[in-house]
Amino acid sequence: CGIFAYLGKKEAQPILLDGLKRLEYRGYDSSGIAIADGKRIEVIKKKGRIADLVQLIGPRQFHGRLGISHTRWATHGIPSDENAHPHFDQSQCLSLVHNGVIENYQLLKQRLLNFGHKFQSETDTEVLAHLIGYYYEQEKIDDPYQRLIHALKRSLKEISGTYGIALIHSDVPNLLLGARRGSPLVLGIGNDEFFLSSDVTAICPYAHRVVYLNDGDLVAITLDTFDIQSLNQSLNKSNNGFEIRDV
Ligand code: GLU
Repeated sequence: CGIFAYLGKKEAQPILLDGLKRLEYRGYDSSGIAIADGKRIEVIKKKGRIADLVQLIGPRQFHGRLGISHTRWATHGIPSDENAHPHFDQSQCLSLVHNGVIENYQLLKQRLLNFGHKFQSETDTEVLAHLIGYYYEQEKIDDPYQRLIHALKRSLKEISGTYGIALIHSDVPNLLLGARRGSPLVLGIGNDEFFLSSDVTAICPYAHRVVYLNDGDLVAITLDTFDIQSLNQSLNKSNNGFEIRDV
């Protein structure tokens, strides 16, 4: 349903929770956040209102300047704590939030089960997280940044359905990845900080400029820059067809 992600120089937790509140009006059944502290990723998620998530977090501060968050509107799997996003891959190093529906998830899930993968939820989303994680393990590229992007592209080529996604990996603690097909995703540009959201109204208070990603785009965001590629064109060609707008 709703995606909100942050990479910058500030603590991510309060920004993510504020972003989630701005997405609330769209309706949802559960919510969650994932924060990367440079070593590992902490995920905390809850069925119910964002107030329930905030209560679960309590006084805890999860430190980290990179994070993703989600409000879920269940399509595959009942509303529950386990089915709430973010989801992990098998290694628990990759965390993903997703809007939309992965139509061929059952086929992919069966393949991954045959490889020994264990799933924590009934969602189509967790299957995508595991698929990307699986290809990340398989890729013979040393640089984890390139390796993750390759694994993501390979996975997105294999799935059918719709997605807006934001993902992070503990091997690359200063990288935020996003992609969309049939589901909206907007990049927000602030002062030394970037945002991704499915809804421009959630990033307006933070960003000076926005880029509406085109269908089929993949965006790789680091602390000082971002790169947008179109997966509809040749896989390695950069797409210069985007427009940066003031907000
Ligand atoms: N299909 C996913 C799920 O059921 C995402 C739903 C959504 O867009 O919130 O978890």
